[in-house]
Amino acid sequence: MSETVKRILNKKELEKPDLIRLLQSSEDERKLIFKKAAEIKEKFVGNKVYYRGLIEFSNLCGKNCFYCGIRSGNKNAHRYELSEDEVLQAAKYAWENSFGSVVIQAGERSGKNFVGRIENLVRKIKEFSNGELGITLSLGEQTEETFRRWFDAGAHRYLLRIEVSNPDLYHRYHPSNKTHDYNARLRSLYLLRQLGYQVGTGVMIGLPFQTPDDLADDLIFMREHDIDMVGMGPYIEHVDTPMYKYRDQLIPKIERFILSLKMVAILRIMMKDINIAATTAMQAIDPMGREKSIKVGANIIMPNLTPSRYREDYLLYEDKPCTDEDAEECKRCLEARIHMAGGEIGYGEWGDSKHFRRRKK
Ligand code: SAM
Ligand code: SF4
Repeated sequence: MSETVKRILNKKELEKPDLIRLLQSSEDERKLIFKKAAEIKEKFVGNKVYYRGLIEFSNLCGKNCFYCGIRSGNKNAHRYELSEDEVLQAAKYAWENSFGSVVIQAGERSGKNFVGRIENLVRKIKEFSNGELGITLSLGEQTEETFRRWFDAGAHRYLLRIEVSNPDLYHRYHPSNKTHDYNARLRSLYLLRQLGYQVGTGVMIGLPFQTPDDLADDLIFMREHDIDMVGMGPYIEHVDTPMYKYRDQLIPKIERFILSLKMVAILRIMMKDINIAATTAMQAIDPMGREKSIKVGANIIMPNLTPSRYREDYLLYEDKPCTDEDAEECKRCLEARIHMAGGEIGYGEWGDSKHFRRRKK
């Protein structure tokens, strides 16, 4: 059987049936996939792992995605927003510790105050770091004007997961209204590219009703949209969400984890020079989840810099790891883990997507 996998791995371009076959690979076969992905990673992006210090700015959200623990409809969530000082302190920590970049992430909001506060934070981070800290934003769908203002203030990367590329499934996981529109999400991805951002997207893996066919389409979606960066990881249920009722229909967590590793490895084989994040959700299932992702193709890690007293409140799913560690502990622990996985940390470097740079040339 592994002859089939070997033959597929030698193909120049993987087609949908190949992807489905790789996603369904056995334990022995997946070792071949992981080995190939590791070779490609080494050759095209090297063994450096770049840090993006994660600042979870706020868990206030105007949307109501059926899978997410901080959706607006969850009345049990304790809401917070960091002060300017708290954000700047976290960013300073990143700068002083030679993290190349920070990510500002939050629930999706579009009010004037919110847009202005983010713009102001981006400017201030750029100012105090003499432009040295790279800034990624992950703040959901926005208007062209908002995306432009944030870009002009100094943000240069944006993460907006498509969540699931199959529009029918997208509608099953979101309320049916204008604020949860698949085409609006696509339009945002398009706008971000037009404005000059490095564009990241991604999906959740192991969602209820999702099939290997859907996941193969997700991989093709990323290739067709010529995406620069990807963050994807297992879907993990949260008790205060509508999708919790499907928990008995999910594949076991460990299988969602293995499937996520396969997705990372296959994507690395397909898109050789993009940036791929080893996501926190991987670590929520396996304590060594992020390191395992690095071994099979990921090259970005997002150490959490949110002040620890807010971490419990940014609870997207159950068992989110490191909610009780401060930044210093988090840094030491990660450093050791990355070295164990054979990686070297790209301190002080932005570690931009090589794919983006190549397209720009
Ligand atoms: N609000 C912004 C947005 O949705 O793009 C950014 C923050 S949102 C919390 C970041 C990501 O968390 C989402 O894109 C989604 O994929 C992920 N997420 C939410 N709930 C999750 C769950 N139950 N399991 C795994 N990932 C989840
Ligand atoms: Fe809000 Fe993002 Fe969660 Fe959806 S996934 S409810 S937009 S924070």
